[in-house]
Amino acid sequence: MHYFQHRDGELFAEGVPLRAIAERVGTPCYVYSLATLRRHYQVFDEAFEAIPHLVCFSVKANSNLAVLRTFARDGSGFDIVSGGELFRAMKAGADPAKIVFSGVGKSAAEIRNALTAGILMFNVESPGELETINAVAGEIGAKAPVALRVNPDVDPKTHPYISTGLKKSKFGIHIQRSLDDYRRARQLPHVEVVGVDCHIGSQLTTVPPFVDALERIRDLVMRLKAEDFNIRYIDMGGGLGITYNDEKPPAPRQYATALVEGLRGLDVTLILEPGRVIVGNAGLLLTKVLYHKSTDEKHFIVVDGGMNDLIRPALYGSYQAIQPVRRTNASTMIVDVVGPVCESGDFFAKDRELPVVESGDLLAVMSAGAYGFVMASNYNTRPRPPEVLVDGATFHIVREREALEDLVRGERIPPELR
Ligand SMILES: *Cc1c(COP(=O)(O)O)cnc(C)c1O
Repeated sequence: MHYFQHRDGELFAEGVPLRAIAERVGTPCYVYSLATLRRHYQVFDEAFEAIPHLVCFSVKANSNLAVLRTFARDGSGFDIVSGGELFRAMKAGADPAKIVFSGVGKSAAEIRNALTAGILMFNVESPGELETINAVAGEIGAKAPVALRVNPDVDPKTHPYISTGLKKSKFGIHIQRSLDDYRRARQLPHVEVVGVDCHIGSQLTTVPPFVDALERIRDLVMRLKAEDFNIRYIDMGGGLGITYNDEKPPAPRQYATALVEGLRGLDVTLILEPGRVIVGNAGLLLTKVLYHKSTDEKHFIVVDGGMNDLIRPALYGSYQAIQPVRRTNASTMIVDVVGPVCESGDFFAKDRELPVVESGDLLAVMSAGAYGFVMASNYNTRPRPPEVLVDGATFHIVREREALEDLVRGERIPPELR
């Protein structure tokens, strides 16, 4: 359930008609519902109330400062994957003691900044990274809390680009080899082993892969405990899926119940890194119809938003529901909804049955709150769109549309070309 609904044939975000937002900030533009963001976080967090746990929202899913601030105020921690995300999280008022740092390629500078900030733990993805963390911690006289990201080799049955827990994946350390790396970590003077981490993929729509992964993690934790490692955290990553079209993902409660069951008897704090499930259906991309265009085979609706604004359909072939903001026409037609970018991959929908719309009509590309704006680019020298946060009957521009000058900021013409 979310707060984007038609009233009298017109689509609203909470108490605000989307038309009013388009009039004020123009299109394309991202729109988020504050009530939906907060509710999704709360439902997820409460699902784990039976056990010690920490929800670390995955910043890469949606990193707008106002969005991060919302979760920080509600008690959320954060999962970051770069120094830039650390900077954002701190700017948004995050508690560093609730930040975990994931990612395969942390640089020495990023590690230093995270250590200085005093984060909860590093999710370490290779023996080499362990050495670097140890060296950097030594230089600044710190002790780095670490978990190893292990790769449990379970198939999440999701899109290959967002599956991360298989043996052939670049992520993590294979679980069977990880015991040696744990022993090695223990020898390092500036590192403290505190946990075990995994993240098997994204947009998972069933519980069993999570349960399988946890079973394997559990075995590892038992072995580590038998060797007197003080494992305090199990981090199960993110990955819970959402409904884009007709998927039926488990509710957070179902997912939580399975994990809580799998943890029985282990005296640890569970860390979770949800991204998509919290923000995905809390946002949409508002775009305007520019032109109709027909060939012998196809009918195209050209809109003012493109793959540079929302790349998911182009990148993963993923489905995004599309709703006209104003329902005027009962008749439908089969169309491709395409953007202005000079790429054949620039589409939001293919062979989709949509109500007949005219130039100037607004369309809402639904479920765009996760991996939407954060993946936006300036390809074709298009300004990135603004982001709007709706709160009840009011709305705030939480990121302005880029101006033309923003598009060339930092570029220089060398003197000999002047
Ligand atoms: C991307 C990512 C997440 C969030 O994944 P979702 O599918 O959005 O929940 C969590 N942890 C790590 C390490 C990630 O890379």
